[in-house]
Amino acid sequence: MKRIYISQTLKSTGGSAKVSGWVNSIRSHGKIIFIDIRDITGVLQMVISPSNKDIYEKAKQIRPEWVIEAAGKINERPKNMENPDIETGKVEMSVEELNVLSKAETLPFSIESEGYDISEEIRMKYRYLDLRRERLRRNMIMRQKVIQFIREFLIKEGFIEIETPILTKSTPEGARDFIVPSRLQPGSFYALPQSPQQYKQLLMVSGIEKYFQIARCFRDEDPRGDRQPEFTQLDLEMSFADEEEILKLVENLYINIIKDIFPQKKILQIPFPRISYSEAMKEYNSDKPDLRKNKNKDELAFAFIVDFPMFEWKKEENRWDAVHHPFTRPKTDNIDEIKKNPDKILAYQYDFVLNGFEIGGGSLRSYKPEVLEAVFEVMGHKKKDIHQKFGHMLTAFKYGVPPHGGIAPGIDRFMAILLNEPNIREVIAFSKTGDSRDLMMGAPDIVNDEQLKELKLKITKKKK
Ligand code: ASP
Repeated sequence: MKRIYISQTLKSTGGSAKVSGWVNSIRSHGKIIFIDIRDITGVLQMVISPSNKDIYEKAKQIRPEWVIEAAGKINERPKNMENPDIETGKVEMSVEELNVLSKAETLPFSIESEGYDISEEIRMKYRYLDLRRERLRRNMIMRQKVIQFIREFLIKEGFIEIETPILTKSTPEGARDFIVPSRLQPGSFYALPQSPQQYKQLLMVSGIEKYFQIARCFRDEDPRGDRQPEFTQLDLEMSFADEEEILKLVENLYINIIKDIFPQKKILQIPFPRISYSEAMKEYNSDKPDLRKNKNKDELAFAFIVDFPMFEWKKEENRWDAVHHPFTRPKTDNIDEIKKNPDKILAYQYDFVLNGFEIGGGSLRSYKPEVLEAVFEVMGHKKKDIHQKFGHMLTAFKYGVPPHGGIAPGIDRFMAILLNEPNIREVIAFSKTGDSRDLMMGAPDIVNDEQLKELKLKITKKKK
């Protein structure tokens, strides 16, 4: 007999079926043994009576979380035995065949509860077990639904999904880069992308016009708040589009995600309010104001914060920095003005805000090489450095570049808000600790001397 999913057993009522999965729980009532079996689709009650001696003896050995397969008759449960809480609560299997596929030791923690009370270190170390938990399983499934919706929506809008490299060169998104030593070019390093920013802009030079990617971004930041060293963004870029077109597209996409996948949620205001940066600071003293009225669990207050200043003064570094990133287009292309009064220049930059969190940011981009160069100069880069670091962009822009812009809403924070989770680790399958360790894999880890020799690297201070 071919194995079917537990959710499909309802359709087999009156007939036979075979299922496989994990032992969720075991109970006995008098001489009858009840085993609840669980697979990705749900839980099914199996009934084993002493009349079949072989099966009964096998069933007596079985422990929670063993992996088993069973076949038998799918019967309607007696009316008073129905369980309205589960989809398959109206039926049960009277077992005629039973096999143990693998045994399990007692789990290091219970997976029956929501798990918030269990130490996160332990949950992370045994993440593959933690993911058996109903809440996390649901989080993974809902995340996939949102990503699939985004894909289908954007492809219908004419976007092309393109992967960009992970081994690349430093990108200035304001964080520290993770670097990877090159074996073939000893002494040279790749950087992991802080975002696909430059690649997506270069794709606009290629004539792709509408690009998107569910992109992994890497930022080596100090432990601070609810952050992860790698996170996922919906990265998109459009040619010939103005700010209005980009914001409308995002607004439309997010309204539809909510309507389709989270219909119980209420969006407070449509169209999403647009608030200038200066107004937001004046009114709310925040560039990511929480506009919710009641802060109940299903209320969503989206907003766009627009008209950010182009530059901010970095006191520690004694220089101007781009508020978003240097590729952002200033609202003027008067080079003298940009260089003379950086503090007065506004940018075509917008942040996407939800319930007091920044869930994305984007901008129109400088596509005139001289404007881009002026911005780098204001930021304190020497002409020679500009060409060494960003020559590829300036060169590309000499060959016919369309005006373009984009945005990159984060997936992790958005999912955490929608699923009412207290942090983004609950919506990431294999998340890391605040200090960027993967407790399950034991990463980062030392490498052996041979590997270091190949890379021509010397460690001056060994891990204790
Ligand atoms: N690359 C930017 C970021 O990661 C987003 C964008 O400007 O499109 O924040």
